[in-house]
Amino acid sequence: MMAEPLRVAGILEHAAKWHADTEIVSRLPEGGIHRYTYAAAHRRAKQLAKALLRLGVAPGDRVGTLAWNTHRHFELYYGVAGIGAVCHTVNPRLFPEQLVYIINHAEDRLLFFDLTFLPLVERLAPICPKVEKWVLLAGPEHLPAHSSLPGLCSYEDLLSAERADYEWPMFDENTACSLCYTSGTTDQPKGVLYSHRSTVLHALGACLPDSLGCSALDVIMPVVPMFHVNAWGLPYAAPIVGAKLVLPGAGMDSASLYELFESEGVTFSAGVPTIWLALLQFMREGPRQFSTLRRTVVGGSSCPPALITAFEDELSVTITHAWGMTETSPLGTGSSLTAKHNGLSPAETLAVRAKQGRVVFGVDLKIVDDEGISLPHNGIAFGDLLVRGPWVVRDYFGSGTPGELTADGWFRTGDVATIDPDGYMQITDRSKDVIKSGGEWISSIDLENLAISHPAVAEAAVIGVPSARWAERPLLIVVRRPGHEVSAEELLAFFKGKVARFCEPDAVEFVDQLPHTATGKLLKTQLRKDFAGYEVA
Ligand code: ADP
Repeated sequence: MMAEPLRVAGILEHAAKWHADTEIVSRLPEGGIHRYTYAAAHRRAKQLAKALLRLGVAPGDRVGTLAWNTHRHFELYYGVAGIGAVCHTVNPRLFPEQLVYIINHAEDRLLFFDLTFLPLVERLAPICPKVEKWVLLAGPEHLPAHSSLPGLCSYEDLLSAERADYEWPMFDENTACSLCYTSGTTDQPKGVLYSHRSTVLHALGACLPDSLGCSALDVIMPVVPMFHVNAWGLPYAAPIVGAKLVLPGAGMDSASLYELFESEGVTFSAGVPTIWLALLQFMREGPRQFSTLRRTVVGGSSCPPALITAFEDELSVTITHAWGMTETSPLGTGSSLTAKHNGLSPAETLAVRAKQGRVVFGVDLKIVDDEGISLPHNGIAFGDLLVRGPWVVRDYFGSGTPGELTADGWFRTGDVATIDPDGYMQITDRSKDVIKSGGEWISSIDLENLAISHPAVAEAAVIGVPSARWAERPLLIVVRRPGHEVSAEELLAFFKGKVARFCEPDAVEFVDQLPHTATGKLLKTQLRKDFAGYEVA
């Protein structure tokens, strides 16, 4: 067989040749809608590649981005990787000190940013001395009159100075192409360096029907940001299959998203639960319906079963629950059904679809006990979830120390899970969030899922609080739905008979909002601080 290396640029080259006039539509952070084709995107990615080379970017150099989902960010994915450099997507929602840590740790040489982030980068630049040049992702008319940013120029000026007569070089498929840091929910951010090989294989895995299931019939809008684990691979999967791609820019609020879903005929989307919980409320308020949206993938944190049911019953949208992490590129499992589930009742089907699901080919999982002994796939035994495969991290970028893996080569996810006899994995908790009550483990996720199925609950979090008698007991923290009333006693009663007696929360507290991480997960470290000193009997 031909030994042609897998390369990211090959994806766009394919789309430009075989899906030349399929569209990419973006909402621009500086205002307006931009519309062009895969063929035009390819030409501009080549212009970008030449501009990068002119600026002295060498293979292996890191090029940072602080950018929304737009066509320019899409071009950076391909133009930077195409020359053998590394596209480092920085999550602008992180705290400034984390941003500085990440940019300096990655040693980004250039940094491309959206207009929205101009005030932010003005503050970051003096403490990010390795960045030689800051590039505004807009036309020159948006450049500020005065700025202290080193080498500031506009992206459109950079590109217009180049012609698109560039041939993508061939190199080893194990060359790095992009870099993403974990959001540091539990630790200092750590960098995961993806290779061309891992990225292309992951994107192919993502396209599979039981995984994200992408096709040329689809209009795909990733609501998950391109700065969060490469938007779960969709900016690669869409051009592989030739699907139209819609990029929502900075408009992540429900009204802006809905407008784009409708105006562009979006059929398939993906994002974290908080986005869909907010969108559900917005749809109910109308009430509104989707004309074309049929499927969405929900992952990044546990998808409440009540959300799956509401989308299905009220909006005719099927939710695929998926699990993954920055370290797994991110796709690990998806909760699609198999032929054996035909004929199950809606409640039985929901029980399957609410799990995090089965592995995608390329990913292998196991659960182990404290001694590292494999546990059975009976849906009951739970243990540390280990993972391996060609798109799973080996060691963190710049850590200099191997040894993130077990002796036999598995990556420790830090999640606790069960696997049932059909291979459906279910996360019970992050190991750091598990509540240990009188020797028993209580899943905070199960309790949160149940709480959110109460009609008066908009969002819920469960943390362990000290108990003199049981060591730890669950505390339920709730945000009420606007216009709804519910008391602590009513909520506690709601759990009766639905979970084992010892799992029922001991107390309920109401808050106006819950703290979230930069990627929309519940920030339980913060909640534990907020409720420090809280004790139950
Ligand atoms: P960070 O590790 O910094 O929070 P990631 O986005 O890499 O950033 O998070 C990965 C973690 O998110 C997983 O280890 C898991 O705990 C959680 N997670 C992802 N998807 C799901 C899901 N569908 N259900 C429950 N937890 C999930």
